Amino acid sequence: MPHSTLAPLTTLRLGGPVGDILNLADPDDWLELVRTIGDRQEDAPLTLGHGSNVVASDTGNEGTVAVMNTRGIAVKRMDDDTVAATVQAGHPLADLVQWAAAEHLAGIECLAGIPGTTGAAPVQNVGAYGQQISDALDHLTVWDWDMGRLRTLPAQACHLRHRHSRFKNHPGRWTILTTTFHLTRSPAAPIGYQPLADELGLHLGVRPPVAEVTAAVLANRCRRGLLLDPHGPDAHQAGSVFLNPPVTAAQAACWSAAGCPVHTDSDGQLRASAGWLLEHIGYRPGYKIAAGIQCSNRRTLTLTAHDGATATGFAQALTELSAQVKIATGIRLQPEPVLVGTWP
Ligand SMILES: Cc1cc2nc3c(=O)[nH]c(=O)nc-3n(C[C@H](O)[C@H](O)[C@H](O)COP(=O)(O)OP(=O)(O)OC[C@H]3O[C@@H](n4cnc5c(N)ncnc54)[C@H](O)[C@@H]3O)c2cc1C
Repeated sequence: MPHSTLAPLTTLRLGGPVGDILNLADPDDWLELVRTIGDRQEDAPLTLGHGSNVVASDTGNEGTVAVMNTRGIAVKRMDDDTVAATVQAGHPLADLVQWAAAEHLAGIECLAGIPGTTGAAPVQNVGAYGQQISDALDHLTVWDWDMGRLRTLPAQACHLRHRHSRFKNHPGRWTILTTTFHLTRSPAAPIGYQPLADELGLHLGVRPPVAEVTAAVLANRCRRGLLLDPHGPDAHQAGSVFLNPPVTAAQAACWSAAGCPVHTDSDGQLRASAGWLLEHIGYRPGYKIAAGIQCSNRRTLTLTAHDGATATGFAQALTELSAQVKIATGIRLQPEPVLVGTWP
């Protein structure tokens, strides 16, 4: 591959020099890749999909980077209404969702428009509009770098929670090679998220056709600046920079009285809106934060990188914003993108 830095492998376009980059396009080449670099933990590469949820170090990455570009969906009929769809890790999640909508298969319809690969989706249990990948995920095949072999992991073994999984706790332990979903030929899951109900002009709990939900999610994401436009002014970004923070019942009561949206996540945890908290302390879309780093033109919670930006500056901006919110509100923000590469 022609890259010699991490920057072109990420949507932020930040990141320094890298040793070998191995581009996996054919799933059958995986074992050859393992033979090339070694099969154990000390040989484990930094695995990347589309680099849409990472901040890659200016210092780069000493070891190998494996970029997952494998594509394909294999379908197996389970019963009259259910199929098991096994998807290669590099297959774009957005394409998978469109395919499912075209096939009238429910289970992932609200995940339309999320950038990145299907193989990366379990890492932070991606979710949006009241649905998350764990709702339909059945099992994964992975290379276990600790054991030096292929394994099948049932979804229950992945500890998938709100934007979290076992993979986040042990970066580099597993490379996800395929994901298998159980999808049903049925109307969409009941609408559980008010902005989506509003977009569709329906009540919560209604089950419209899958394709209608997918189209409504895309329209809503477009209006809210949640789609990645590689040619727009906010092209170089990694999406939301903070997770919606967990809050206590007392904090939830206090901050929702002040106007902060608070919701209960799928694990029953109260969470405040990270974007609202940033706006509460004075940040707005387009606000310049540091050299080359600003809030996106559409959303305060998305930071974009421009000329003069560095990964170090980006990470410092996250630390600074988090500290300011903690001082002003007592609530601690956790970054959403993963720091990859070698950090001081
Ligand atoms: C505009 C925008 C909107 C977004 N909206 C949402 C949203 O609504 N909901 C949401 O949850 N996320 C959202 N995201 C975040 C991002 O799209 C997801 O986290 C996505 O899953 C990242 O996929 P990727 O292929 O780009 O992963 P990368 O950024 O390449 O990698 C992310 C992490 O996963 C690891 N990883 C990647 N592939 C593998 C693999 N095959 N095996 C093991 N580890 C792997 C990497 O090492 C890294 O730690 C958004 C991002 C952007 C830029």
